[in-house]
Amino acid sequence: MSARVNMRPANKNTLLKVVILGDGGVGKSCLMNRFVSNHFDEHSFHTIGVEFLNKDIEIDNENYTLQIWDTAGQERFKTLRTPFYRGSDICMLTYAIDDKSSFRNMNMWKNEFLYYADIKENTYFPFIVVGNKSDVLVEEREVSQLELETWCNENGIASCIETSAKSASNVQEAFKMAVQHWLRAEIRADR
Ligand code: GDP
Ligand code: MG
Repeated sequence: MSARVNMRPANKNTLLKVVILGDGGVGKSCLMNRFVSNHFDEHSFHTIGVEFLNKDIEIDNENYTLQIWDTAGQERFKTLRTPFYRGSDICMLTYAIDDKSSFRNMNMWKNEFLYYADIKENTYFPFIVVGNKSDVLVEEREVSQLELETWCNENGIASCIETSAKSASNVQEAFKMAVQHWLRAEIRADR
């Protein structure tokens, strides 16, 4: 008997916890809704009471379940609960391209995440930076693509992308890029 044995594990599914952080109003909930249900509602507010939503994606023939954590508006108080951050695999730092102060606050969000998620010093953690609302008029833009790339270079972050939850531009790509970044990360955070 000489049946060929396939050594690859069948239907392996990797669960990844993704937290979306950034100032209130930058479009975090809209990005999550666009990604999970391909829907945009101009007047929808944050998902009160919902801590996370799951979405399955396939990348290079591997299956992933992204467990996406969105704040229910607590970002207005600046500090979130520690359990929200703990065990994260990926952190999506988000600002709006028509809101310079949301861009400046990314530093604060990044530091808060590293502190409360208990990421050890000198450990590489896969952040992805997302500049949302790329659909706004040119004259409304307050942050250039060059500023985004410069900030990422200065902060050792390899992945960044501009998105629009409104027009759906680059939203799937942003989450895919986040997973690919996680895959490339050599050292992963302790859980
Ligand atoms: P959050 O507080 O970060 O969760 O932000 P929301 O998702 O609640 O969005 C805040 C506001 O920005 C809402 O009025 C949305 O309609 C609007 N918004 C979200 N994403 C976009 C986008 O890609 N483009 C534009 N023009 N507006 C957006
Ligand atoms: Mg929200």
